[in-house]
Order: sequence, then C-alpha cells, then structure tokens
Amino acid sequence: MYNNCKGEFKGLVMKEILWKAARATTVPHFIKAMEEMIAVDPRACNWLCERPPIHWSRSHFDTFPKCDSLLNSLCESYNSAILPAREQPIISMLERMRLILMQTIHKRRDAMMRSKHPICPKIVKRIEKTKDELHNWIPRWVGSDHEVYGPNGMQYRVDLVNKSSGCRKWDISGVPCVHALASIKFLSQDPFNYVHECYKVDTYLKCYGNLLSPMNGRDLWPETDNPFMLPPNVKKRSGRPKKARRREPDEPQDPTKLTKRGVKMRCSACGTVGHNKRRCKQVIAPMRRNANATTNSKATPTQNTAPRKAKQPMVRKNATPTPHVGSQQSKATSSLTINNKGNFGRKVGFVTNSRALSNQKM
Ligand SMILES: [Zn+2]
Ligand SMILES: [Zn+2]
Repeated sequence: MYNNCKGEFKGLVMKEILWKAARATTVPHFIKAMEEMIAVDPRACNWLCERPPIHWSRSHFDTFPKCDSLLNSLCESYNSAILPAREQPIISMLERMRLILMQTIHKRRDAMMRSKHPICPKIVKRIEKTKDELHNWIPRWVGSDHEVYGPNGMQYRVDLVNKSSGCRKWDISGVPCVHALASIKFLSQDPFNYVHECYKVDTYLKCYGNLLSPMNGRDLWPETDNPFMLPPNVKKRSGRPKKARRREPDEPQDPTKLTKRGVKMRCSACGTVGHNKRRCKQVIAPMRRNANATTNSKATPTQNTAPRKAKQPMVRKNATPTPHVGSQQSKATSSLTINNKGNFGRKVGFVTNSRALSNQKM
C-alpha cells in the first residue's frame, strides 16, 4: 500500500508518518499519527481514509490470528515459487506445484525436528532481542496484574493470566512484548511459557507432519472413463504475454544497470559540471560560427573546387534534391536547406562545417 501511496504523495516525512500509523498497535497512537499526517498533507489522509485501517494498521488488527505482518512478502514469495509452473499446461503445472510442496514440507519438517528449543527459533531470537530494552521498564505488581512504567511517562497494564498488554503487541502477535517480559522477569518466570501455542515446535511439526507421499510417473497412473481433458478456450491477446514483475516506481527498471540518479554530469569537452558534450557551448558555438561562415561564403567564390566535388554526393544524399546549377552554387544551396531542415541539421551541418574547415585550410 505504501508503494501505491508513494506514487501520489512523495517524501520521506510522509513515508515515516505512514509507517508510524501502520505500526501503531493502539488506536490512540494511530489517531495521533493520522493527525500528524493531516498537518503535513490533508489529501494523503483522505486517500488513506478510503482504505479501511483493519487491512493495513496493526492498531485495528484482530487479536485472534496472532499475525502482525504488515508486508505481503508471503504471497510474493509464493508467486515467485510458482512462476515457472504458471505457464505450463494444467497437469504439468499441478505436478510441478505438487513437487515444490512435497519438497518444501519435508525440508521444513526436518529442519524443525533438529531444533532443541521448545519454541521456534525466530521467536526465540525475537524475545532475546526484546530483552535488550528491558532496562527501560519498571513493573509494579498489583494483585494478579502489573503496571509497567517506561520512558516519557508511558504506562501499560499487563495481564499475565489472559496474556494481554495495554500496548496490544502481545495480543496481536502472541509473543510477549517488552512490558510483559518486564512483569515475567519480576515474577522470575520463564518468558517462553507465555508464548502462544502456534509458535511452539510441536505445533509446527503437527502442521508439517502430513507429508505428500511420492508417486509414480504419468505412464503408471490409473486410467479413467472420464472424457479427455482439453485446455480452456482462451482468446489469444495481441502482443507477447508479460512475464516480468511490475516494478515499483522507485525501483530500477533494469536491476543489472546502475541508475544515473544523483550522478553529476560532467562535460567531456570542457570539463565543467552541469552539462554534457552535446550541450557544450564551447563545442556548439564554433560549429555555429562555421555554419554561418559557409552560408556567407556563397558571396565570395574563391574556394578550390576539387575537394568539394568529391564530397558533394554525400551531402546531397541527406539534403533535399536540388537542381544542379554549378558546383559552387549547389554547395551553397545545400548548406542552406540543411539549416532549414530540422532532422538532418546537426549531422549534415557538421559535414558542411568540416568542408568549410578544409576549405579554409586551403
Ligand atoms: Zn506491551
Ligand atoms: Zn562543456
């Protein structure tokens, strides 16, 4: 969603506020972030209000699924896995997907069976990381609940029985937040006992316990009486079907190439920053002067005709066909028509210039 938003409302400030609103776990914090956004750009707030926050802000997420993911990387990795299968015929596609699933389930199950901790490793890492912030929070025990005080007057209520914290992080994700960890530490208990069931290795192994069993090749499949399966009638669209992923506006269109964004252009002719050789005044000005000199030289026919005759066909090829009058006159008219014509102006102008230069030398 941020990528859609960034097309219309650009800027680092907007990005930070949008992410702040998305990461906010409580409604008051979400409203505060939206108020900040109104101060920066009210249109962006209107744009966001059309999209229900239950889909993009943690503050409105349901506490049942125990998922606090804000990114759609899950479906993108699924898409990238089935990408080669997508363009195959139906049976081959399903076969390929079955193979991917069969291997993935087996691999995941075996990796987790090696785990010695009762909780999945990523959650263990997350809790260990949260423990680093514990020194900021002081719990006060009142009955069965805790009141946890933190920096900037922040204060949350932690309910260890219902596994809930005032910040809602624990409720949404199922992993104890820093406030819960402070209370758990206060009671000298093991924080891993407070992690939701879904993050336990046993649950993981139950999910991945149903392996897809290997099967024989197509020639050994049992035959059916059902009619032969035909591909669907699909109208062929014009053009080549698109395979490449649509890239984001700020993503490089060709990942193998480095962007030129931020690189200062330096002229190879004069060495100054800010323009290149094509727009260089030191290159263009003498060229113009020479072009004028050739048009003016029409009046003073004092040049040698021998080299001009040799180069004339090349010039006439690009210029409009002009009737022959004489070698000198035709040369002058050709340079004039070239100056009036936009298309060949530069290329042919350069040719006339070189001719003029050679003439001047002689
Ligand atoms: Zn909390
Ligand atoms: Zn220059």
